[in-house]
Amino acid sequence: MVTGASEVGSGIFRITVPIPFDLRDVNLYLVDTGDGFLLIDTAIRTAEARAVVESSLARLGIAFRDIHTIVVTHFHTDHSGLAGRFRELADAPVVMSGPDAACLARFFAEGPPVEPADFFAAHGAPREFDTIARGMFPSLSRLMVPFAADRIVDTGDAVATDRPAVGLLTPGHTPGHLTVLLPEEGVLFAGDHVLPRISPNIGLYDFGDPNPLGSYLASLERVRRVAPRRIFPAHGAVIDEPDARIDELIAHHRRRLDHVASATTAAGASAWSVCEHLFGEGLGPIEAWLAFFESLAHLEYLVQAGVVRRDADPESVVYSLC
Ligand SMILES: [Zn+2]
Repeated sequence: MVTGASEVGSGIFRITVPIPFDLRDVNLYLVDTGDGFLLIDTAIRTAEARAVVESSLARLGIAFRDIHTIVVTHFHTDHSGLAGRFRELADAPVVMSGPDAACLARFFAEGPPVEPADFFAAHGAPREFDTIARGMFPSLSRLMVPFAADRIVDTGDAVATDRPAVGLLTPGHTPGHLTVLLPEEGVLFAGDHVLPRISPNIGLYDFGDPNPLGSYLASLERVRRVAPRRIFPAHGAVIDEPDARIDELIAHHRRRLDHVASATTAAGASAWSVCEHLFGEGLGPIEAWLAFFESLAHLEYLVQAGVVRRDADPESVVYSLC
């Protein structure tokens, strides 16, 4: 998508900002609420991203001081990276969900989460994967200005009142992924929960949800019940048929669960071998890391569903079909 600003709905402006990842760009949204603007997501801490946001705001004739509330949909760098900066420029509170605010607070206080020493080896991953995984987070932390959420929002809590907007928690992609609903208009700002072309990473991480895929699928049903007419995603184009996209995302995960189950033989398999079966070999470090945790999330979903058994000792974790 072309970077820069455009009006995508009545009083709804999208700023598309480049990010140094495969996804290439992230969408920020400004909602004119009559008493100022609601900003949804903040992009990443790079000079390029900041310049694009500033020039886009100038083109739209919006000053940082016109922004009364900043929503960070989830703690990932491409959504939270500049929140600390914009919070000061706008003199506006940053709103997040409780679980994701806690993830960030822990991250800034203790540094990046680190898996236990033999975690990857026990799951059958090559030894060097441990070093690769440890090296990734410190570089990610440079892409965020440290900040803390000023206000915690749960499902149904108001985010704006003059033009009503409420929070809708959609855990899965992160433990407290937050979307924003304009209930009177059938508009949902979905963050990474519902994306038009790709399915968001659903990973089982040590510090998060014990069954993120279960949460994600439940969150998709939650959005379906709310029945938005239009979804504005954080990556990619506007979704005009939300129900059809939700169906596709559910079907995608059901297919993947079938693949995972078939890769998990009665004799047992490691999470790493299931990951290679699903995603192939020769992925780059970030892709391999995401693929591994995505595989774990699917395995754990099947464990909770009683389809797969997990046998763990300190040296190895083996999954086998029940
Ligand atoms: Zn994300």
